[in-house]
Amino acid sequence: MASDKEDDAPKSQASGEYKDLSHKSLLRSDALYQYILETSVYPKEHQCLKELRDLTEKHPWSITAVPADEGQFLNMLVKLINAKNTIEIGVFTGYSLLATALALPQDGKILALDVNRGDYELGLPVIEKAGVAHKIDFREGPALPVLDQLLTDEKNKGAFDFIFVDADKENYLNYHRRTIELVKVEGVIAYDNTLWYGSVVDTSEVPHLDYIKRLRGFVQELNKALALDSRIEICQLSIGDGITLCRRIS
Ligand code: SAM
Ligand code: CA
Repeated sequence: MASDKEDDAPKSQASGEYKDLSHKSLLRSDALYQYILETSVYPKEHQCLKELRDLTEKHPWSITAVPADEGQFLNMLVKLINAKNTIEIGVFTGYSLLATALALPQDGKILALDVNRGDYELGLPVIEKAGVAHKIDFREGPALPVLDQLLTDEKNKGAFDFIFVDADKENYLNYHRRTIELVKVEGVIAYDNTLWYGSVVDTSEVPHLDYIKRLRGFVQELNKALALDSRIEICQLSIGDGITLCRRIS
């Protein structure tokens, strides 16, 4: 993104160059976002998370990984709620997965679901190096049938402390119908990308990439449905591309 304000913006301490980070945050000042990363996030980032982030940068879809500040947030959230039994829907190379796994106790578990094992395996050596691979049960394939299968067993209902959803946006409401039964009362479901590149407020004339335009309506529908759902309390955060926390209350 080129704009006049960038001429005055501080340069990255790491590279000496100004970086376009607009795809990673909705904060309207890239310089401010870079300040957050360099002051509060990168100095505390686990070495293996950094390694995984560097490795993921080379992937053509690196834009879809959660940014480091969101990883830091997820890591703290998981610790704050003392989560032990968790699900992640949408793994990619595993940045959010590793941020979560590092936060869980030694006997914590993540059921990790993704249609693409190849991307997960790119990051797996780093997850193993971090010493947390034993917490992860990765299943390759569409997530919905796995959730349906879980729900056939009564003991899985209300059994999960935390569920992170970061996969196909067209299915978010389908995921919600299932995650709400799987998460325990007082547990948390987190839906990622709920501000969808800021497009949720744009009119149809504003130019966006085709996939952003195509999926915008699903994100808008999700946001409306979550706000009306009496079984949850919600909190919409503008970190990353927007993340909505849902705390189950009934
Ligand atoms: N959380 C990841 C991270 O931090 O790097 C990013 C996940 S990426 C935005 C979305 C992922 O969802 C992709 O890896 C994709 O393969 C996966 N996905 C898409 N449709 C899916 C489905 N129906 N079931 C499970 N995973 C799916
Ligand atoms: Ca995401």
